[in-house]
Amino acid sequence: MLGIRVILFNSDTHNNNADIAGRGCMAETDAALSYRLSTWRGEFVEPEVEQAFRRHIEPSMARHLRVAVLVWAILLLLFGGLDYLDLGWSDGFLILMSTRILQAALLLAFAWRLGQRPELATTGYAVTALEALGFVLFFLIYFARPDIVIWNIGVTLIMLISMFIFIPSRVYPTLLAALFGIAGTLYCLALTGLSTGLLVGVSFILMLPVVVGFVAALRLQLVQRHEFALYTEVAEANRELKAEIERREALELELKRQATTDPLTGLFNRRQYEMLFVRERERCRRQNSPMCLCIADLDHFKALNDKLGHDAGDAALRHVASLFARHMRQSDVLGRFGGEEFIMLLPDTDEQQAGCMVERLRQALEQSPLLLSSDRDYPLTATFAVTRVQDDEKTIRDTIRRADKGLYQGKRAGRNRVVLA
Ligand code: GH3
Ligand code: MG
Ligand code: MG
Repeated sequence: MLGIRVILFNSDTHNNNADIAGRGCMAETDAALSYRLSTWRGEFVEPEVEQAFRRHIEPSMARHLRVAVLVWAILLLLFGGLDYLDLGWSDGFLILMSTRILQAALLLAFAWRLGQRPELATTGYAVTALEALGFVLFFLIYFARPDIVIWNIGVTLIMLISMFIFIPSRVYPTLLAALFGIAGTLYCLALTGLSTGLLVGVSFILMLPVVVGFVAALRLQLVQRHEFALYTEVAEANRELKAEIERREALELELKRQATTDPLTGLFNRRQYEMLFVRERERCRRQNSPMCLCIADLDHFKALNDKLGHDAGDAALRHVASLFARHMRQSDVLGRFGGEEFIMLLPDTDEQQAGCMVERLRQALEQSPLLLSSDRDYPLTATFAVTRVQDDEKTIRDTIRRADKGLYQGKRAGRNRVVLA
């Protein structure tokens, strides 16, 4: 079950496909967060989802808006060249050029501000205000250059469609700015003496790109949000999946550990060291290398249990296990044979080397008593039986049987010693 259920369905027109509607139904019952879209607004119904979406697209929208604003500023200045060709170095040209420079400066300032506050791109109102201001400054041209009124109407058409297509913003604030632009244009044209009939014609012509642009931008807004909802769903599913895989891997590892080790000492259990014995013996046989086995039995361990209690006995077993592990090679195998007995498999080791190594182990144990408190300890010793694995021994049991005999001899001979069997 996903933590966040992503839903997409068209609440107003109910014309989404079955898959999306299906998820919508699911969400009605157990959704943590609804990603419902309002078709007429072109935004998410839930304010926090809409905010999350805007935060998500903020960087790319701010980037696109900066590019659009810079292109706008460059075009404004370039058109100044056309003014010069028509007007020469006249007052009219200077007035027009001043407004162009002012607009370009405003646009550059806005682009710079966008770099600092990218959220200006997604809230919509800053862009709308800028567009409205752009129109106001553009209206001056109607009075400065009444001779190019047709050209101005053409540029207004391009401006209106560009607002929806090239300047990323929210669709309703853009619509507001566009309607302001149309109203202002018509007002300016009326002031310059255009007839009512022509004004009606121009208003139709100007409304056309606004309707087309508005519908296209609204669809784009919806598509962007559909994508965001799907993206969030996939990202959430991926996170869940990853967490589940990690949990299962940890579980698998733990199960493997439990299946192969002794819970008290953490050493290999019987199943595991028997399996490793077969593997190592095969390897040593292939490489014509000797292999030894050693059994260690703690001396008088029952007495320790009786005197200090079972918990101290357990602590002693852990202490011995970690001491042995520290003194053995990485390639050796150390297991718990049972009770207070340990087993060691020593691949690539002959009897003599094994004897020396085990003797060092015996001495180390003798010198490492079990610490009971800061001023009290309990001496520990063990009897060790070392034997070489013979070629004709098929299972570990044959080898162990021989080592066991050695162990018995060691105990009888007084304990705390290494016997070669
Ligand atoms: P020896 O020197 O002849 O080996 O004498 P021992 O007392 O060590 O041998 P014995 O076989 O008589 O006793 C082994 C004791 O080890 C008996 C049992 O209580 C204890 N033991 C076996 N497994 C555990 C364990 O997991 N925890 C604890 N605390 N004691 C254990
Ligand atoms: Mg024993
Ligand atoms: Mg013992």
